[in-house]
Amino acid sequence: MRLLPSRIRRSATLGRRSAVTSMLLAFAMVVVLVTIFILTALDRIAEYANRLDDARSRETTTGSLHMFEGQLHATLTDYAAWDDAARYVYAGDQDWIVDNYGEMTVNSDLFDTAIVMDSRQNVLMAYQDGVPVSWSPRDYFDASLATLFDKAGSAGPDAVPEAAGFMRTKRGIAAVGLALIRQKSGALDVPRPDRRFLIFAHHLDEAKVRKLAQTYVIDGLRFTGEGEVTANAVDIRNLHGKLLGRLVWNSRLPGNMGYAEVRPLVYCALAMVGLFFLLLFVSGSNTLNRLKADEAAARHLAMSDRLSGLLNRTGFFVALEDLVSEGRRSGSDVALLYLDLDGFKEVNDAYGHGTGDKLIRGVAAGLKTLVGNDAILARVGGDEFAIAFLSAEIARVADDLNDRILGFFDEPFVIGERVATIGTSIGVAASPRGKVSGEELVRRADMAMYHAKETGRGRAEYYRPEMDAEREERNMLEIDLRIAIERRELAVVFQPVMDARSFRLIGVEALCRWNRAGYGPVSPDIFIPIAESTGLIDQLGLFVLHRACETIASWPELKLAVNISPGQFRDPAFAVHVGSVFSKTKTEPGRVTLEMTEGYFIQNAERARAALAKLKQLGVKIALDDFGAGFSSVGYLRQFGFDRMKIDKSLVHALDEGARAVDLLQATVALARSLDIPVTAEGVETEEQAIALRLSGCDELQGYLFGRPMSAEEIDAIRGGGMPCGASAA
Ligand code: C2E
Ligand code: CA
Ligand code: CA
Repeated sequence: MRLLPSRIRRSATLGRRSAVTSMLLAFAMVVVLVTIFILTALDRIAEYANRLDDARSRETTTGSLHMFEGQLHATLTDYAAWDDAARYVYAGDQDWIVDNYGEMTVNSDLFDTAIVMDSRQNVLMAYQDGVPVSWSPRDYFDASLATLFDKAGSAGPDAVPEAAGFMRTKRGIAAVGLALIRQKSGALDVPRPDRRFLIFAHHLDEAKVRKLAQTYVIDGLRFTGEGEVTANAVDIRNLHGKLLGRLVWNSRLPGNMGYAEVRPLVYCALAMVGLFFLLLFVSGSNTLNRLKADEAAARHLAMSDRLSGLLNRTGFFVALEDLVSEGRRSGSDVALLYLDLDGFKEVNDAYGHGTGDKLIRGVAAGLKTLVGNDAILARVGGDEFAIAFLSAEIARVADDLNDRILGFFDEPFVIGERVATIGTSIGVAASPRGKVSGEELVRRADMAMYHAKETGRGRAEYYRPEMDAEREERNMLEIDLRIAIERRELAVVFQPVMDARSFRLIGVEALCRWNRAGYGPVSPDIFIPIAESTGLIDQLGLFVLHRACETIASWPELKLAVNISPGQFRDPAFAVHVGSVFSKTKTEPGRVTLEMTEGYFIQNAERARAALAKLKQLGVKIALDDFGAGFSSVGYLRQFGFDRMKIDKSLVHALDEGARAVDLLQATVALARSLDIPVTAEGVETEEQAIALRLSGCDELQGYLFGRPMSAEEIDAIRGGGMPCGASAA
């Protein structure tokens, strides 16, 4: 699509790209965060499960140590609080002691060392693993043995005279218990110094630890090795709190195992979440793309004209600015052709909007073929088109294009059964190397187009700087005219109208005059069109009518003719204003003829008829002015009920050229007279003309021959005074 301005396309693509990137980033961040959260949570659960299991293992290990010690203690109680023991030990029966204590140390699951001592800690018997030993218990056990002695020995009558605890021995670590040998009831009839004590020791060696591990199901329970540091350990301390050794186990890490178990599932779930997001993203970005496309379409619609399919005014300005920037960059020139159709409104009014629309489409299609694809073509107004292009030699290309466009309009357009002839006026402006902005370029081309219109239509005009001065001058003129109208500085002069037979003065035509302050007189041919195009004509026309009616009040025998511009009909209250002028100036409407040209009647036949009817109700007469100068035909005269026809001076002056013109004039006047419409001839400058016109059937004559437009005083002077200067009665 060449015609969609590149700037619009560019910004749309950029926007889409950045939106997609940020969505992708957000999507990736969400997935990463979710993954981190889930993995962290699982890690915590695993850690917690591990810790829980370790705590349980710790409790079990501690418990197993207590059991180990407790078992020894219970065995000791059985052997020490025993009636037989109390009898035989205190009786000094060494055999009994060896049989029942010493020899029990062999292959016992309960104790491996048995010692009997007196209260001064003299050894009476010491056996280990079924054989007597010679070491001293004081050397063999650590210092906490003395504490056991103290505890058990000094126990009061209510306390149990026993004590136990772990201890270091020469062989390793052992649970050691010490108890007073007594009757089962606890009674003992022996003084303190003579009392005997039984010591059992049960060594906790590697094999026992393995057995504990088996019994209590603690994986890998063992003593710590050299320098082994671990949190999973239980200390074994003696009664003094001295560290004897540590038991450690293998952490089962059930959390880790569970974690390992669920990990594949978690990864699976994460992958699914990722996939879901990806799908969401893809469908989301599809929607986004569609929205963007819709937006671009809407933009395109806002930039284009629905009827012709070309760019519209907005689109054209955007595209033109792009083109000018391009020209500035590449150093090429930009040309702008501004086209305004001539006669399009008339076709539209005459044949209706349907035909008008088809005509516009036809023109658009034709122009498109003429300008090709490298130029911008737009419909910038109802019947206005613009063409812009870049070229290294715009003068030649523009000349060539103008010729082809004007040639294209030479042929009439066939629309269904109708044939329409229209033309176009072209204004051309250039922006050398893009130095003139798009806006200024349009202004210049429009100005040139306006000149082409004013200087005859159907032609191309190049912008010249003087045009600005002329426009400026016209603007000044308009301002001054407005002021002159407000200050009532305009003057009205009167041109005599004569009876064609008697050459007597029977009426006057009021004509407006403007003596522009500081400049001198301005021709009505200049200021009347300005007043018409600016709307000042309403005030101006009523002013002239008012002044003329006031003036003829003192000329009761004279008729009055006043010119009316088509523009004045656009005011719906025009007839009312005219009526009020008549009543204010006490003018008899039948004395007044309003002169108007055919332009308005061609354009708006229905409205013109209605407006004329209103005026005629006032009693005023209507004349068709400048007959023969335009397209007016005798048919109009009857159709609109004109009361008089005025032959244009161009037709009158043609009389000098020969018989053909005389024939034409005679035929025209005869036709009008056959419709009972009287004819006035204007622009009569010679007696020959006057005679020919009278012979042709004109009943009233007007022209320099009888008098130029003059002041009211001058009319006063010739009234009733017979012939004005220059004319001799026939
Ligand atoms: P128009 O209505 O056709 O007025 C007649 C014009 O012909 C006048 O020019 C007049 O001076 C000129 N003329 C009269 N006799 C002769 C002659 O023998 N030979 C030649 N060559 N010209 C003659 P003027 O006053 O310059 O007015 C020009 C036009 O301005 C008028 O043409 C009329 O259309 C318009 N105009 C003047 N005053 C008014 C006005 O008050 N209202 C409106 N709406 N238009 C006016
Ligand atoms: Ca006139
Ligand atoms: Ca005239």
